[in-house]
Amino acid sequence: MKLADRFDRRFEHVSRDHGDAWSPPRSQAHRRGIDLARAASAVADLLDALGVDRGGESLAGTPDRVARAYAELLTPEPFDATTFANDEHYDELVVATSIPFSSLCEHHLLPFSGVAHVGYLPGERLLGLSKLARVVTHFSRRLQVQERLTTEIAHWLEETLHPRGVGVVLEAEHACMSLRGVRAAGSSTLTSALAGLVRDDPRTRAEFLSLVGRR
Ligand code: ZN
Repeated sequence: MKLADRFDRRFEHVSRDHGDAWSPPRSQAHRRGIDLARAASAVADLLDALGVDRGGESLAGTPDRVARAYAELLTPEPFDATTFANDEHYDELVVATSIPFSSLCEHHLLPFSGVAHVGYLPGERLLGLSKLARVVTHFSRRLQVQERLTTEIAHWLEETLHPRGVGVVLEAEHACMSLRGVRAAGSSTLTSALAGLVRDDPRTRAEFLSLVGRR
């Protein structure tokens, strides 16, 4: 069975519909290198096309700043995914809650941000606690949709740790929903990916959802 098929994905839009079609998770196309000069010139073209007068001093450096800002937002920080042997056979859930994150919606290039709750039921290996936050940040630094970000974090944990279960819940507000379109300010979108015993064992599932405040 393919790994992706083992996940129980629930995409629950708490608020009104996002308004964009969602395409299923796909492997990220190999990212080409960032050409800052070309990006800055494209931002200048965009501003011109939008009828913005770039004559003022304040806007002079904007194309360059925007290019560098997007380059930063789209460059994942490398991290060292050190794992440890679970020598003491810890067999309860390890959960990090309310990890703040922000990412860029690939439909509008606008940010979505919120919190991630990430947990796993250890098998043979444990992960350093700070790494749960690192992995969220890592997969946030690219063009994303919240659903794919959720499953990428879960898949990474599954493949890196081979745990007995994984649970990932993301709650986020999307600027493309709150600032424009339906202007549903304050609404949050909730996504989750549960696998293994976190999905299949009622007690573990209930415990995880209770720990992340979803039940
Ligand atoms: Zn969007």
